[in-house]
Amino acid sequence: MDETIGLRIDVDTYRGTKFGVPALCSLLKEYKLKATFYFSVGPDNMGRHLWRLLKPAFLWKMLRTNAASLYGPEIILMGTLWRGPLIGEKLANIIKAAADDGHEIGLHAWDHHRIQAAADKLAPEEIHENLRKGVETLTRITGAPPISSAVPGWRCNEKILAEKSKFDFTFNSDVRGTDIFVPILETTASDGDALTPQPQIPTTMPTYDELLGKNGVTSDNYNDSIIEKLRPGQLNVLTIHAEVEGGKCLEMFDDFLRTVMERGWNIVPLGELLDKRRETLPSCNIARSAIPGREGWVATQQATETPSTPHG
Ligand SMILES: [Zn+2]
Repeated sequence: MDETIGLRIDVDTYRGTKFGVPALCSLLKEYKLKATFYFSVGPDNMGRHLWRLLKPAFLWKMLRTNAASLYGPEIILMGTLWRGPLIGEKLANIIKAAADDGHEIGLHAWDHHRIQAAADKLAPEEIHENLRKGVETLTRITGAPPISSAVPGWRCNEKILAEKSKFDFTFNSDVRGTDIFVPILETTASDGDALTPQPQIPTTMPTYDELLGKNGVTSDNYNDSIIEKLRPGQLNVLTIHAEVEGGKCLEMFDDFLRTVMERGWNIVPLGELLDKRRETLPSCNIARSAIPGREGWVATQQATETPSTPHG
């Protein structure tokens, strides 16, 4: 795979879809590049995440000012009763345009917030429903089923992998790791047969929000620090966000693309990385670990007995 970077673009929100995706599509077109987009296509409930963070202070203020008697009781329920807009319904044209540009189309989630916040509490039926609605929506929009899926926040577990194996994904990108692999599953199908999970193409590099502000990384030297982490001759998968690199960091990402291409790096959608490796995939377990700059755990590829690319 010499000097290759797999480019993965996560789209979490309505805003990211509406503004970030077209911006990234036109940037990639300028450089004649293709990437893998992972879309969230159901309700944008990411506001609830903010609500959760704000709640203690907000509630205290409500009690202090007796807001309910001033504004009526509905203010207490703000953001929890109203359903977020259905991204795949309102912004189908943008998702379709990305597919028409020749990018790989993957499923991030139906309800990003729900999966990320409750990955461990979800029943298999709810996981399956979330995947089914996402796959059907993307199929309806683009005319073809999504080639891949990527669970929100790398919050992947055995239950999620087992449900994914019932869909027709060519590969998935659910974990942090170092090389393409097939995950080892203990779950069996209802008839007792072994499930066959799809290959995993892990994210190998940190994200913008993980690196920024740590060890002297600022927006001025961000590109240098991410380029330093590229591993020639090995798997490199960079995950960017439509909300970030397609928004306020667009110019910085433009610089990144130009710099790495000048240095001879190829940038490809994830599926192309798999095409070169399909015959020799190792089987690996997945565990949980903490990652600097990220809250909570992420699913992480565990080492194999026969590492395929030893290096010193
Ligand atoms: Zn996401």
